[in-house]
This record gives sequence, C-alpha cells and structure tokens, in this order.
Amino acid sequence: MNETQYQMDLLKAMNQNLSTRDRMYRMICEMTGGAFLYLDAYKNDLVTIGDFVSFFDFEIKVKRDLERIYEIVDEPYVMPLRELISLDKSGKEKAMLECLTRKKKTWLQFQALANYDEQGKLVGKVIGILDITKYKLQAEELNYYSFYDVITGLYNRNYFVRLLGEFVQKAKNAQKRVSVMMIDIDDFHKVNDGLGMVYGDELIQQFGSFLKDFCSENVIACHLNSDVYCIAIYDPKGNYSVQEIHNAITERLKRPFVLGSQQSASITVTIGVAEYPDAAKTALDLINCAEIVALKGRSYGRDAFLYFDQPILKEFMRSLDLESKLKDAIHRNQFELYYQPQYYCGNKKLRGMEALIRFRESDNKMISPSIFIPIAEKNGDIIPIGNWVMEEAIRQYAEWQVMYGSRFILSINISASQFLQEDFVDRLFMALKQHKVNPYFIELEMTESILIEDFDNVCEKMKSLQEMGIRISLDDFGTGFSSLSYLKKLPINTLKIDKSFIDTVLTDSTTRIITESIIGMVKSLGFESVAEGVEEEQQYKYLHAIGCDVIQGYLLGKPLSVTDVEKLLRSQTR
Ligand code: C2E
Ligand code: MG
Ligand code: MG
Repeated sequence: MNETQYQMDLLKAMNQNLSTRDRMYRMICEMTGGAFLYLDAYKNDLVTIGDFVSFFDFEIKVKRDLERIYEIVDEPYVMPLRELISLDKSGKEKAMLECLTRKKKTWLQFQALANYDEQGKLVGKVIGILDITKYKLQAEELNYYSFYDVITGLYNRNYFVRLLGEFVQKAKNAQKRVSVMMIDIDDFHKVNDGLGMVYGDELIQQFGSFLKDFCSENVIACHLNSDVYCIAIYDPKGNYSVQEIHNAITERLKRPFVLGSQQSASITVTIGVAEYPDAAKTALDLINCAEIVALKGRSYGRDAFLYFDQPILKEFMRSLDLESKLKDAIHRNQFELYYQPQYYCGNKKLRGMEALIRFRESDNKMISPSIFIPIAEKNGDIIPIGNWVMEEAIRQYAEWQVMYGSRFILSINISASQFLQEDFVDRLFMALKQHKVNPYFIELEMTESILIEDFDNVCEKMKSLQEMGIRISLDDFGTGFSSLSYLKKLPINTLKIDKSFIDTVLTDSTTRIITESIIGMVKSLGFESVAEGVEEEQQYKYLHAIGCDVIQGYLLGKPLSVTDVEKLLRSQTR
C-alpha cells in the first residue's frame, strides 16, 4: 500500500466514523424532541442539529439568524435569552430559561452548557431547545386546582382559609371587622335524588357563579363542600355587607334555576354569620362559628338567617358533650323508661301507657328526651337507643301482665330512621314472641316527619303492621305539615293532638276551631283521638265536650317510674 492509498483509506475510515457519530447525534436529538446548536467561540460560527423549522418557521444557518429567535419570544424574555445564548460573557457554565412565544403562545425551554479551556476562556456553548407547552399547561392546570374548586370556579376551601387568614390579619392591624357567611342550600339532597347528580352539580355550579359576582378586592367566596358555600367580607359596609348580600341572595332565589334544557329547581338557603373579632379571632374559628350557626339555623327548618352569639356556641358545646355521653350511656345502661298513663274521657278508665325514655347522667341529673333524642337522631344513635326502648318496654309490659293481669295499650315512640330500618318489623315481633305479648296491645307512635321520607313505602309498612294487629298512632299532630286532607290516606288507628293546641284551646278561638275540626275529622275516619298535655280541669271538660276520646297529661297522671306504675296497677286490681 502506497502512502497516498493509506491516507485515502484513513480519511475514508474517519469519514465513516464521523457519519456514524453524526447519525447517532441526530437520532438522539430526534428522541429528545429538541433542537440543538453549538456556538463555536473561536470561529464565531455555529452548527445545528434537529428540526429547527418546527420550532421557528425559519432555518438557522449562520450566527446572524439567531436574531430571529429574539423576535419570536415575548418581550420580557428577550434580554435574558440574549444573555443565555451570548458568547460575550463567560457567565455560568449551565443556564436554563423558559420563554413564552409572542404569537403562538407556546413555551420554549432554552438550556445552555458552556465549555471553557484550561485558562478559563470560553470555547463554545451548546444550546438545547425544547417545546414544553404541554407540561406548562399541565402545571398551570394543577396550579389552578390548588386554588379553585372544579365545579364552581370559586376558591377552594384551603385557599379560602388562607385568604381569610390574610383578611383577619389586615383587620387586626387596621381595627376593622371581617364577616363570614356560611350559606347552605336547604334540602339539596332532594334536588340530587329527584333530578339526579348531573342536575345537582349544575345547580351547585349556577349558584356558585351567582355568588362569584359578589367577589371584589374585599369579598371572597368559596365552595366549601357539597351544597355549602362561604363568603368573607373585609371591612363590611355599603353594598358589601352581610345584609346587602343576603338581600341579593333572597332576591335571586325568588326565581328558579334552569337546569339543562327543561328542568328547573327553586331553592332556599340557610345562612349562618360569624364576625371577627366578636365571634372568633382566627380564620378557622370564624368558619367553625359560622358553621355552628348555620347548623343551628337548619334546626329551624328552611330559609333561616342567623348571627353567631355565645348562647349558640354554648348550646353546641353542650350537644357535643351530650353526644359523647349518649355513646357511653348505651354501653353503661344509663337509660330508664317512665310510663305516662292515658285515660278514656268520661269514665277515666286506664286506656294505655306511653313509654318515655329517661337519661340519667352520672351526677344523677336527668336530661330531657326532647334534648337528646334529636341529637341521637342526627348521629344515628337513635337506632340502638330505640331498639332498647322497644325491647325493654315489651319486656316490662309482659312482666306487668303476669303480675297484675294488665290489659292496657303500651305506646312506644318510634323515630323515622328506626322505623325505616330493614330489620325493624323482625325485631318487634321477635320481642313480642320472646315475651309472649299479643301485638294487639302494642301501639307505635310516630310523628308526621316519617311521611316525608317515602310516603308510599311508609304507608305500606304501616299497613302490614296493622294487619298483624299492631296499632299505629300519629304523634304530635299539628306541629308538622298537618294537612287534614291527607289523613284519610293514612293507615293509622290513633291521632294525638299536640300539647301546643291544648295549651291555647281555651283562650284562642282559631285553635278551638282547628281542634274541633281535627276531632270531627278523626271521628268520621273512625280513628281514636288523644289529647296530649292536658294540665287543667277546664281543658279536660272542654275536650270531653267536643268528643275527644282519650286524655294524656299532668292533670290525670305524670310520667311514672316503674315503681310508681306498679303502685298504680296494684291500686287498680284491688
Ligand atoms: P311525646 O311522644 O309527644 O311525649 C309527650 C311528652 O309530653 C312527654 O315528654 C311527656 O312527659 C310530656 N307531657 C305529657 N303530658 C304533659 C303535660 O301535661 N304537661 C307537660 N308540660 N308535658 C307533658 P318527654 O317525656 O319529655 O318526651 C318528649 C319527647 O321525646 C316525646 O314527645 C317523644 O317525641 C320523645 N321521646 C320520648 N321517649 C322516646 C323514645 O323512647 N323514643 C323516641 N324516638 N322518642 C322519645
Ligand atoms: Mg309520643
Ligand atoms: Mg306527642
């Protein structure tokens, strides 16, 4: 091989080697999806690899072309990008910059890696360019959801608490007030159950966007959860005050919300208000106080508007305390049953006894069922409590039957959720069978609230119980929706007229008219009427005169302990 041939082979081998490397670099570049350029500081020119056209709509061949890159990025990025690309300054070895493009609004990431010789002089720079628009949008979206609520576009709970914290701090420094309104849609579950979740969400969204219109520098709103919203007002005054916002909400709610193309929903809301510094001193405490007031408002029914005050907080703390005591009481057997006699009007013979639960706290203090039963109904404890009452009353009744040959009616109060339990009928009949008590002696007292749940189903269940001999009594009539017209549809045996009627029956002519028509209606339907809470002889005489069948009240007998009932039963057998 001569020298020339050798040189040629060597060159060919080097060329081949080069084109392999070149191919490899291009492939790597393709894999990263980026474009790269190398700026040679000695020669002051550049080399490129990658698909520059897809980034810039133009080619970069010579250094002058770099100027065109600066033209397409948004103004604030031009100088930093010049610095990153420049060969003039020795600068940092590595640098990165994310730039927004002017027209396309895409995001480009520029990375620079500089190379220096032993004397520290710049040899060259590699600039890598990547389109990061997709990642930027994802990050923006993530960022959005960390501040905003998906359904309503209002602030989410966390961010709202942070902003409210800032309001409170500002108010503290400037000696101003901050109002917090907790807004809860009444009976929202009815919309969700009746129209479905999609319309439910639409309602949440529409009401949320209505509330959004109140937002300003000093007013913030959030979707707290499900059907609950919260508004905070810094330095409330003028149009931006609780009263004004409440008025605007009331005005809006006079019109229904149109959902989808053909549904609509009319709603009312319950609002609880707590203010800094009177109610609480921190954002979370303010929200809690407003929530407690809204909860209290809910117990009044629909459309309530309430301001926080200390008695509400006290009552709430008491109910929390009671809730934990109730849980203990179930295990510790701290419940007792009292029995209140019911007498036939006229002959005053014993008609029955109503079992009434009593809860004795460890310090022997009695707590009224009117206080703890609603709490137990809310937290579900009414199920074990109600089951205990039913079983214990039947056991006790069986004992009295054996001891005294009693044949009176035993009335047991049953809560709606207890009655709706699947095993309710089985439990009742198991207890009757175990204690050998005839169902004809048992009466279940239920309030009208049970009929709100599922009228047809409840009536069916009542009917089947009646067929098995159980009596059904409608308790506290007159306190619920009390429509006389629906009475005829109800499978009941007894109707108990609430004490509130009896209290004023002698003094108020309207009450008298209503009471007389109730008793007339009950008679014509063939039910039995019981007047509750009769305390005076005059009331008794009047009720007897208008044809009331049965009297229950302090006048003829207070609720009695087991020992006292036994005294009464003994005196009757004599
Ligand atoms: P209710 O079923 O309407 O019971 C009648 C209530 O009126 C009883 O109050 C009774 O003591 C009271 N009362 C009767 N006559 C008079 C009177 O002449 N004057 C006055 N001032 N009050 C009278 P109590 O025992 O405090 O029970 C209150 C409510 O608690 C009951 O009203 C009932 O709704 C509920 N309750 C009681 N025991 C049970 C139970 O075992 N289960 C369920 N679910 N609820 C119960
Ligand atoms: Mg009752
Ligand atoms: Mg009652």
